[in-house]
Amino acid sequence: MTTHTTRMLIIGSGPAGYSAAIYGARAGMEPIVVQGLQPGGQLTITTDVENYPGFADVIQGPWLMEQMQKQAEHVGTRMMWDTIVEVDLENGSPFKAIGDSGDEYVGDVLVIATGAQAKWLGVPGEEELGGKGVSACATCDGFFYRGKKVAVIGGGNTAVEEALYLTNHSDDVTLIHRRDELRCEKILEDRMLGNDKITPLWNKTVKRFVAGDNGTLHHLELVDTVTGEESTLEVDGAFVAIGHAPSTELFKGKLELDAGGYLVVEPGTPKTAIPGVFAAGDVMDHTYRQAVTAAGTGCMAALDAERFLAELGDSRREAEAAE
Ligand code: FAD
Ligand code: NAP
Repeated sequence: MTTHTTRMLIIGSGPAGYSAAIYGARAGMEPIVVQGLQPGGQLTITTDVENYPGFADVIQGPWLMEQMQKQAEHVGTRMMWDTIVEVDLENGSPFKAIGDSGDEYVGDVLVIATGAQAKWLGVPGEEELGGKGVSACATCDGFFYRGKKVAVIGGGNTAVEEALYLTNHSDDVTLIHRRDELRCEKILEDRMLGNDKITPLWNKTVKRFVAGDNGTLHHLELVDTVTGEESTLEVDGAFVAIGHAPSTELFKGKLELDAGGYLVVEPGTPKTAIPGVFAAGDVMDHTYRQAVTAAGTGCMAALDAERFLAELGDSRREAEAAE
């Protein structure tokens, strides 16, 4: 076991974690970023990003995150390919975290930027057919359904983007939404409704994912949310895109979580109830959940961390002087 010590420990390597690292490194805090199972975060599983400021042309999510990682490293951040499995926040600063590798990470301040993960419907067949027709990532798995029939479940930005992306591989994409009104941005809605490869199926939910004789997805059992009528839809692939849940399992019982499981912070700041522990990005934001807002709160966490360390330094010096 190795112990890695830093002034600023950051858990998570999405836009929030990398932005905190860029600011933290430039402030001399020599950050360590523990990257987790998805280095680069959620944007690494998408394609086009056209709303991150600074790029006149459409950029690719994985490319953007590679640039952020390089920028953070360039200014002095250490990247660790590890996943935190336990945190000790009880005794205040310095905070300790244990990685899956067995290594220990110790930071005078801690920035939690663990983001969010795809939600599942939790209906029969979904788990069993995972990887056998059921997926939560069209950009990862869409290629396997070239020329086949696919469905996307959900009505937000992710679902509509996934449906649009799947038209690169399939001419038969059904978008299944539980209402008759989409939640996504207008620009995406217009693109989807104007695309004749996509058929919207309104007011329907999936009751069950059903396998064929070969053990892979064969059809969906659907229920009409208005009439209760049941129907089936034959598809080879189904992409669940019903939103994301914050990755806060590690912090249960250690930090306050709201009803949705998001970390609670002092309003308008990234400060948690424990001095020196900050939360940034999707893990604390159930409202905006955008790359740019995650980056913004990452920056705020680093600026507040710098202030916290300055005050900590003052109080430690005063304590030493008093001895
Ligand atoms: P995430 O990007 O979720 O990153 C979380 C990080 O934490 C990951 O690196 C993960 O490995 C790490 N982690 C988690 N647990 C641990 C642990 N225990 N130990 C160590 N590390 C851990 N937003 C836009 O603005 N524009 C878009 O075009 C856009 N497109 C999107 C497309 C899709 C398909 C999806 C799913 C989201 C999209 N978003 C978009 C939303 C955007 O991706 C998120 O708002 C943003 O990534 C949140 O950043 P984050 O840093 O908070 O967390
Ligand atoms: P979201 O906005 O929360 O939308 C989830 C969708 O799934 C909603 O339409 C919801 O229906 C539906 N849904 C939820 N639970 C369901 C269930 N049990 N059964 C059936 N349908 C269900 O999630 P998201 O689309 O993943 O987006 C998450 C965040 O990332 C948002 O802030 C979004 O703006 C951001 N994002 C941005 C971009 C972009 O900027 N281009 C791209 C992707 C994501 P209702 O509408 O009825 O609630």
